[in-house]
Amino acid sequence: MSVLARYNATVSSDPEQQVSVTSRAAALLHRAGLRRTPVRAAVLIVLGESGQPLGVPQVLERLPHDTDAVTVYRTLNTFTQKQLVHRVHGEDRTWRYALSADATTRHEHPHFVCDACGTVECLEQSEIPKDFIRSLHVASRYSVHYPEVVLHGVCPKCHD
Ligand SMILES: [Zn+2]
Ligand SMILES: [Zn+2]
Repeated sequence: MSVLARYNATVSSDPEQQVSVTSRAAALLHRAGLRRTPVRAAVLIVLGESGQPLGVPQVLERLPHDTDAVTVYRTLNTFTQKQLVHRVHGEDRTWRYALSADATTRHEHPHFVCDACGTVECLEQSEIPKDFIRSLHVASRYSVHYPEVVLHGVCPKCHD
């Protein structure tokens, strides 16, 4: 059985839900011009179902046990280059990866790092102001590609 098939078997017993997540992963790979491999598809599914940024160990936890960690690292790097995912540093300085809803809006939301539990979240409801970079008055010899805003504090779960 393929990684993806085994993954599907553990993720959902509802065949219709399996079809929709796998076909979405296939569509994303196709759009990025990437060949579809079981690991690529499975990583996209894991990130899509998580809804919040995950570190490599957390991604591996959700994949079949024999999945090669190096392949997963390489896959996430490829996805980052192709803008299928965006990444943000967690409180332990390791990267967390999140599926980008739309490649053109990838960096327009800030991220939140909870200093109590270490959770990293995409704040998709919040927007980085369009004139944010200009407002920083960075010297003109620097060419700024995009801002990355990471907010630190206490998440709602730890607040209660
Ligand atoms: Zn927290
Ligand atoms: Zn995000």
